[in-house]
Amino acid sequence: MGFNKLTAPLGGSTALARSAALLSNSGCDRLVITVTEDTRPAAEALALPVPLTLCEGGATRGRSVLNALRAASGQKGDIAVIHDAARCFQTEAAVRAAIASAKETGSGVSALPMTDSVFRKDGSAPLDRASLVCTQTPQAFRFEEILSAYEQAGEQAATDDAALYARFIGPVTFTPGDPLGRKLTAPADWDWAKAMTCHPRTGTGFDTHVLGEGRKLILGGVEIPYEKGLIAHSDGDVLLHALMDALLGAASLGDIGHLFPDKDPRYKNISSRVLLREVDARLREQGFTVTHVDVTVIAQRPKLAPFFPQARRNIAEDLNIPLDAVSLKATTTEGMNDEGRGLCISAQAVANII
Ligand code: MG
Repeated sequence: MGFNKLTAPLGGSTALARSAALLSNSGCDRLVITVTEDTRPAAEALALPVPLTLCEGGATRGRSVLNALRAASGQKGDIAVIHDAARCFQTEAAVRAAIASAKETGSGVSALPMTDSVFRKDGSAPLDRASLVCTQTPQAFRFEEILSAYEQAGEQAATDDAALYARFIGPVTFTPGDPLGRKLTAPADWDWAKAMTCHPRTGTGFDTHVLGEGRKLILGGVEIPYEKGLIAHSDGDVLLHALMDALLGAASLGDIGHLFPDKDPRYKNISSRVLLREVDARLREQGFTVTHVDVTVIAQRPKLAPFFPQARRNIAEDLNIPLDAVSLKATTTEGMNDEGRGLCISAQAVANII
């Protein structure tokens, strides 16, 4: 099954779930969703406050709507509200306005004023845009009338329900739509949808390792000449350990002790850069993007600043982010505490993700 814009993760939900919630929160007392083989499992998993019926979609939009109207026939309700699930950010106000108008006049079709000039392709003078609207969904109608329009249309094509209503029943009443009711069709629409649902998240991390003889000192994946190194099951890269915990924390994915247990022989003396790349992969699997990380290393000795340019490059490479999205700093504790006495090195980190 490939990418499906209706069921793909979208800000902790999906377009399908957002649209279903929109309708059930806006006055619809039951839903019928047309599904394909791809979308059926996601539709079956929806938890809604109103009864839900699933029916097979058709080869065309019109055929799908007719299937849904027939599936809804005989159920309670005199207004049918037809909505494209791909317009998942449509507002409740637009849905309520369409329903109210359908009750009063027979139809309520969400529409927007034209903001662009409209020309015929022959290049003649533009149409009067003040007399034009662009239709969206929802489109609400008296149930029996829109069902009759669809039955009369048979296999005739129509771009939307309002077109059939106008042809077979009568003039349509337009109600205020909303620019948020944009249909997710092109890749740029999907990028817009991602931006609409992007909530920045922050995580923090802290780690300490004891300095001991006979170990290499590795920080940020750089081997630093020093008479001691950090004692650990892995390479003891305290900088990357704090960073990984910050990243996992931002994504609420636990911590590195849980992910890479120090009892597991696979991680004995492993380069922490390998683990960092694994953490990055876990975040990407969940749809997260790292936007900025900042790590402070707390050490009395040795001087770390000369090694930070390489460490920044390593981190930027492992996380696939720009160099200026990686900040590294070092501080001493002026001889105080275990770091100040040269017994250990610590690091604290903050990671921002979207
Ligand atoms: Mg550690």
